[in-house]
Amino acid sequence: MAVEKRYVEVLLPLKLKDTLSYRLPQGWPVEEGSWVQVPLRGHPALGVVLQVRDSAPVGVNLSAIEPVDAVLDIPAASVQERCFWRAIADYYLCTPGEVLKAAFNAGIQKQMLQPPKARKSKKKAEEAPLADLATLSDAQQAALDQIRAGFAQHKPVLLHGVTGSGKTEIYLHLAAEQLRQGRDVLYLVPEIAISQQLEQRLAAVFGPQLLVYHSRTTVPQRYRVMDTLRRDPTPRIVLGTRSAVFLPFRRLGLAVVDEEHDRSYKQDDTAPRYNGRDAVLMLAGLHKADVLLGSATPSCEALYNVQIRKFSAAQLPCRYYGGASASVEIIDMAQALRLHNVEGSFSRKLLKEMTAVLEAGKQVLVFRSRRAYAPVVQCEVCGEVVQCPHCNVALSYHRFNNSLSCHYCGYHRPYTLRCPACDEVALVERGSGTEKLEEELRTAFPGRTVARFDADTTQSKTAEEKMIRDFAAGRIDILVGTQMITKGFDFERLALVAVVSGDSLFAVQDFRSDERAYQLLTQLMGRSGRRGEPGRLVIQTFQPDHPVLQRLLQPEALSSDASEASAGLLAERQAFAYPPYVRLIALTVKDRYEGRVWNVCRLIQEAAASIGIRDIAGPTSPAVDVVAGEHIAQFWIKLPRDRRLAATKQALYARIDRIERDFKGHTTLIIDVDPA
Ligand code: ADP
Ligand code: ZN
Repeated sequence: MAVEKRYVEVLLPLKLKDTLSYRLPQGWPVEEGSWVQVPLRGHPALGVVLQVRDSAPVGVNLSAIEPVDAVLDIPAASVQERCFWRAIADYYLCTPGEVLKAAFNAGIQKQMLQPPKARKSKKKAEEAPLADLATLSDAQQAALDQIRAGFAQHKPVLLHGVTGSGKTEIYLHLAAEQLRQGRDVLYLVPEIAISQQLEQRLAAVFGPQLLVYHSRTTVPQRYRVMDTLRRDPTPRIVLGTRSAVFLPFRRLGLAVVDEEHDRSYKQDDTAPRYNGRDAVLMLAGLHKADVLLGSATPSCEALYNVQIRKFSAAQLPCRYYGGASASVEIIDMAQALRLHNVEGSFSRKLLKEMTAVLEAGKQVLVFRSRRAYAPVVQCEVCGEVVQCPHCNVALSYHRFNNSLSCHYCGYHRPYTLRCPACDEVALVERGSGTEKLEEELRTAFPGRTVARFDADTTQSKTAEEKMIRDFAAGRIDILVGTQMITKGFDFERLALVAVVSGDSLFAVQDFRSDERAYQLLTQLMGRSGRRGEPGRLVIQTFQPDHPVLQRLLQPEALSSDASEASAGLLAERQAFAYPPYVRLIALTVKDRYEGRVWNVCRLIQEAAASIGIRDIAGPTSPAVDVVAGEHIAQFWIKLPRDRRLAATKQALYARIDRIERDFKGHTTLIIDVDPA
């Protein structure tokens, strides 16, 4: 027997540019995709074999090559899995190692290296009989036929259906069909829409075939989901948030992305800065799986793809239980103030409507995009606005713990009335966040139960679930909350949704802000008046003529061609060369020294010019230009969507990577493809 030396190229979950070479002890069974434990700077690390070679790698000091510690007893990563990592890295301009790290976080890596003892399988509980699928209405059946027609042409399908139209039941029918045929299903929802209600419905229909995977799933639970998918041939349906796209599906038959327009599909704090919806499209491509995107307010990107016939479309124009959609009322706050019709943050008109709703035994939801008691505190003597010492932003006052806190870096300190600038005891709170609204509502409606649903009150999953249960059961009359209240909940007694300060939705400087405001208000509209009763949305604003509000007033007939509805929005994007007509890349530069920020920016401009990038805006300072002691500058690069796109992106990545190395340890450079 020939004594051959074998080597493997191993991918590690690190920001390394390349794989690392290791030696393979005699006779160890390894193939491409095998999971291994390898030494890394003296510590055991998880890796995956990307290549097995019979000869030594060239140009490497052979004596420095260490042997693989162990081959792990985990079924090898499939070709699709490995191709997917590569595709994500190429598209989002990061290394495959960073993708691996996103797919397998530190906790999971540890479990893969030291698998927990298989838990004694509980005595097989009497398997509960599964619930039947609902019989579809004619409208649902028609939509299902449209979807199937799209799938038959191998196209992803956009299901444009108003809130409450019964999209979920359609997803379930398609999912059941795939499972019967032995294929897996991925059912993706936005982070904040993971609802008990949905989970229970899926569990009732699919029983043990359902696996759940989201940010609140613990590490051991996540590990078990992965392990089950790798080892157990039973077809599964996975209900998950964006990171579920990295699960080791074996034969994915269908991927559903509900609320495809939702911003929380985008991962924006660490590389890969991917969008879960777009990642699903890549994944499904590798598995030749069907993709169904659902939304009541589709993204411009999805509508564009329907327009160019890359996607097929289906519609569900009516609510399942019928009934008119919510009526919308816009209250002109300037006028209300002139007429002295305002008490605190609320117009009298809104308070009156709330009273009527409560007296009828119904519930009210109050939306405000800012949490805290007051977004700003200011000195009445010198005018100073109290700032975060580490960020260029005002501190918010939280009454529940009497603190001033920074929503950017987490800095907080006790609140005193003393001005840090002039030392007078003269600080006053300005503006009103959710906490203040809660207090005002308690005063305005004594005897009613008022609760608040925001990041401060829902830190634990139990607290969050309890509040949802309490609201659903009618134990809460008025719920005040942030964006978190906008999705996924189906409350029967909710009759009125109030937006206290509509203007804060339009104040954002972003080409997507109008689209977002419209989507948010439409979602809110959909929250009220379910089960056949019309709901009501009341918006207080100083800009009653704002185009977004005017659009909301015209009940948008879901035309047979989904792209027609948003033709205006798309035309605007085209005219000003915004996505989806161009590829947008945001580049962020951060450094403790402002001077170095601008130096690096100059190098970036030179690099961009040298590879022929013409459309580069910046450097500009973002609205909050110092965060946690670092100065921030940004560039916006627009690339034409032509055949050179992929190559230009890679050239840009190489240059940026080079600059980052030169300033390593000082300057942080962040590349964000398709920023949200
Ligand atoms: P969407 O996801 O489009 O907002 P849902 O799927 O939540 O809408 O459906 C709205 C309501 O209609 C839910 O209460 C759901 O149980 C009910 N529903 C939808 N389709 C059916 C059906 N075919 N049979 C019975 N109830 C249905
Ligand atoms: Zn701060």
